[in-house]
Amino acid sequence: MASNSTEYRTAIVSVTLTGASYRLAHDSCHRAALLWNQAVNWVHGEWKAKRSPNKYDIQGFLNSIPRQDRPLHAHTTETIAHDLSEAITTARVNLMQGMKIRSPWRKNNYRPLSFSKGYGWRISRGQLHLSLGRGRPRIDLSIPTVLDSATGEEVDPGLWGEIQLCWNRDKRRFSQHIPYETLREVLVGEAVSAIDVTIINGREARAIKRQRNKAVGQLQHKISKCKNGSKKHKRLVTAKKKINSTAKLSLCDFDHQVSNKAANHVISHNTARLIVGDVRGIEKEAKSKRRMGRHGRQQLSQWSRGAQERYLNEKTKLEMEHLNESYSSQTCPACSTRNRPSGRHYRCKNTICGFTCHRDAVGAIDILQKALCGQYTPIGPDIKVRVTYLRAVERWSPDQREAHRKVQCRKARALSSAQNRALSETTQISKPKLANSSTSTDSSVPDQLVVVA
Ligand SMILES: [Zn+2]
Repeated sequence: MASNSTEYRTAIVSVTLTGASYRLAHDSCHRAALLWNQAVNWVHGEWKAKRSPNKYDIQGFLNSIPRQDRPLHAHTTETIAHDLSEAITTARVNLMQGMKIRSPWRKNNYRPLSFSKGYGWRISRGQLHLSLGRGRPRIDLSIPTVLDSATGEEVDPGLWGEIQLCWNRDKRRFSQHIPYETLREVLVGEAVSAIDVTIINGREARAIKRQRNKAVGQLQHKISKCKNGSKKHKRLVTAKKKINSTAKLSLCDFDHQVSNKAANHVISHNTARLIVGDVRGIEKEAKSKRRMGRHGRQQLSQWSRGAQERYLNEKTKLEMEHLNESYSSQTCPACSTRNRPSGRHYRCKNTICGFTCHRDAVGAIDILQKALCGQYTPIGPDIKVRVTYLRAVERWSPDQREAHRKVQCRKARALSSAQNRALSETTQISKPKLANSSTSTDSSVPDQLVVVA
């Protein structure tokens, strides 16, 4: 059975702007930020006068600014008003939930530009034109290729929505955020015979973080030793920023890869419910409660769990259910006795049971059973557990790299010895006397080396 539903996704396409277009986009982003700051000031003034403006009031205020002071398309200005109003609403909701949060107050220096469909952006003569209002120059770009992330097919520009031109601070370039409409096939009803567990390894992220922490720590130590504002200080701060932004980009990529692999698993199994072990707030009070060592706490606080969950939600379009997961990786899925796993491997100490599996697979099965039955319930004896072990980023481990290097060395040596042999044979023909001595050494030494290695 299958039914179709429409959904919206956003493609992010990097753009390289040159010359006049770049300057125009750069200035406009600054102008948009100025408008935002003015609107924020005005809203704060209104609040002081005991008035609470809505998004149309903010829009009205921005429209009252003289036209020459807001050199943007009317729809772009409108989006600024709507964004601000939305930010205020979000802040209010979060405040009600007891979060420590403030309504927008910080001065912006740069803001993304929005171009509405049909008015803000247009395609003609093989180019994409982003309008900054009538009578003003426009930003011209080559038409970007937007690929549907589900099917991999190109999306027709007719299905694009409002385009945003954003500056990516870490990549140091502009990118376009293009939402598009896509159909999603939802399959319903299919019997489950075995439990499929997919484990995605996060070792790569740990390596990136470790490297960054170490480098930043060293730089910070050096920074603390030199004078504030000095040439050396500036150089070190720039170096630190660079390390942080590089690590941020690779971690962002890593989070996307992890969530993408998880989402593929979810989508390929026609999942209707998505349940996540609840580890929210695990990093809080870890020190006061002496829950972990120094390094463990750092690992915990730098774990990008929230981002990964958000990406997974965006990629699967499924609401996430959080479930208390205490003792999930200790409880045996076959007999419900508790065992402390040592390392990554789980072995049930109950002599009758003797269930063995990957530790994380045990956790996943227990969470699944809890979600289905309300508590940790043993799985039936006929149910098979299939574990797939994936690495988030397909890169070699140091061991694999070392093994590969050895094989390559061996091959190279074998090749060079063969070449030497061939060479010596040719020299033998032309200069038999001289070559005889060289053949014996040339061919024998590398051959011996091959055996040793
Ligand atoms: Zn057991």
